[in-house]
Amino acid sequence: MTRRERPTRTCATCGRPFQWRKRWARCWEEVRHCSERCRRTARRARRAGKG
Ligand SMILES: [Zn+2]
Repeated sequence: MTRRERPTRTCATCGRPFQWRKRWARCWEEVRHCSERCRRTARRARRAGKG
């Protein structure tokens, strides 16, 4: 098996597509945001809404 293609995913926060990174090699399945910034934003956004 030789897959050199890097998978892409759409950020759940900004909606932009981002590419696989080596730092996510072990947790790619859990990655849902393109950057740590979006990751934090997503956490805050959850609290903003009405419970
Ligand atoms: Zn993003």
